[in-house]
Amino acid sequence: MLRLEGIKLNLDEKQAQLKDKAAARLRCRPEEITDLRILRRAIDAREGLQFVYTVAVAVKNENQVLRRCRDKRVTVYMPEKYRLPAPVACDTPPVVVGMGPGGLFAALVLAKCGLRPIVLERGEAVEQRCETVARFWRDGTLNTESNVQFGEGGAGAFSDGKLNTGTKDVRHRFILEQLVSCGAPETILYDAKPHVGTDMLYIALQNMRRELLALGADIRFGHRLTGIDTADGQLTSLHVTAQGEPYTLPCRHALLALGHSPRDTVEMLYSVGVHMEAKPFAVGVRIEHRQSDMDAAQYRRYAGHANLPVSTYKLSCHLDSGRSAFSFCVCPGGQVVAAASEAGRVVTNGMSEYARDKENINGALLINVTPADFPTDHPLAGIAFQRQLEEAAYALGGGDYRAPAQRVEDFLLHRPTEKAGSVTPSYRPGVTYTDLHRCLPPFVAEAIAEALPILGSKLRGYDAPDAILTAVESRSSSPVKIPRGEDYQCNIRGIYPCGEGAGYAGGILSAAADGIRCAEAIIATL
Ligand SMILES: Cc1cc2nc3c(=O)[nH]c(=O)nc-3n(C[C@H](O)[C@H](O)[C@H](O)COP(=O)(O)OP(=O)(O)OC[C@H]3O[C@@H](n4cnc5c(N)ncnc54)[C@H](O)[C@@H]3O)c2cc1C
Repeated sequence: MLRLEGIKLNLDEKQAQLKDKAAARLRCRPEEITDLRILRRAIDAREGLQFVYTVAVAVKNENQVLRRCRDKRVTVYMPEKYRLPAPVACDTPPVVVGMGPGGLFAALVLAKCGLRPIVLERGEAVEQRCETVARFWRDGTLNTESNVQFGEGGAGAFSDGKLNTGTKDVRHRFILEQLVSCGAPETILYDAKPHVGTDMLYIALQNMRRELLALGADIRFGHRLTGIDTADGQLTSLHVTAQGEPYTLPCRHALLALGHSPRDTVEMLYSVGVHMEAKPFAVGVRIEHRQSDMDAAQYRRYAGHANLPVSTYKLSCHLDSGRSAFSFCVCPGGQVVAAASEAGRVVTNGMSEYARDKENINGALLINVTPADFPTDHPLAGIAFQRQLEEAAYALGGGDYRAPAQRVEDFLLHRPTEKAGSVTPSYRPGVTYTDLHRCLPPFVAEAIAEALPILGSKLRGYDAPDAILTAVESRSSSPVKIPRGEDYQCNIRGIYPCGEGAGYAGGILSAAADGIRCAEAIIATL
């Protein structure tokens, strides 16, 4: 096949016209093209808005066509395909702890290679988890074992399901194809900014579980890792608690894909001698705008065009204080979600459904923090820092999981908000209007105030008076790193720290890829 880059369609042209445009580029007749696959679709805003495609086409007399067209944007299409490791056998099955993207894809590769992994997940299967989370959002009843952070699908299950990554890895295509085969939309295979949405992830997660079970994986929901045993620096068994009952699981290979939120498990691992380091991360607030205002700012006269997806944004700036401020995890047409996993603490995040058709767009507005900002130089001091913020937000919100919120204009004037303006906050179970300076550390509040007009100069309306700030966004990434060697094991042999929680991933796709890398390392050891 041939790979053609830079094929443009204006907003009113249909995808069916790609064949004609590809034929024109190849200087052949459309009938000579026997197959056409979209490899990439992006929006180009430079010359009016248009879609730019990269496609692969099968054409008769390919070599002749390639010689004749003499165009740098036409090359031979040679996709790199991910190859699974060769199957292996093992008496004691490897254990995967955590069913977020890291654990799920690790378990999949282990199972496809014949290893029948045991998969421990403290939270519920996604069907029950959805009901538990819905109750929390309705009336503030928090289940500390199954929530937006914990349960099948991990932290990304209630998300926008963005699958962006800044890195190239042959595993990414494998991950996307796996998600599509489990029911995720095909557009994730080619969109420049792919996203699945919470509703589609719900389906994909159930189908992936069925596949894992069919491959012989032993999946245990409601089973929490509570301790480990070692002998001569080698893992020998795991302590697990299920429905309040402890049991011991013999284990020589445990892949820990724990995510950034199980502080009890991190404290347990630290207490038994797993090496850890404090790491920088970022904290701040969610900012919410009307989607139509952001579309108008970015798409201008094309805003509202039926063929355009809702707009998103990516913003950043450096501040005089030496800190940086940036947007993160933007959820177009979505909602701000209550993402707490510990009692008495408020945490915000964002999600969207595949259609991204809600009234507001929300995104984190974050300020970088470093270990120098933490209360002590203990490796887990970042967790203490997060807890302080979350407790302050809980108290300011009223002590019932409502989140403190404020209009941007009021925030900049240090004036408590009394009621919302044109932007209605979407956070459930609800917000308490107040002054966020009362819960944010002064350096974070000052940095946000400095950043808002700068970012507003980059995206019109970003700092609009009625935009709503909801606090606190404290779990953007892990505050702890678990160093591992080239064999992917930490200082205790047989423990493979993996994904976001260990500090080796930031987001769904990179966590899934890291899960696969750790699974490959276990297979290599066997
Ligand atoms: C609301 C929200 C929206 C997000 N949106 C996006 C997005 O659009 N795009 C994106 O790329 N990223 C997004 N993220 C981040 C993304 O979800 C994470 O980067 C990713 O899930 C990390 O994967 P992981 O497998 O490393 O950990 P996690 O997904 O956090 O999974 C860890 C799992 O381990 C389990 N676990 C923890 N401790 C134990 C224990 N002791 N015993 C048993 N099980 C345990 C947890 O219950 C959890 O299910 C979002 C996160 C949140 C919270």
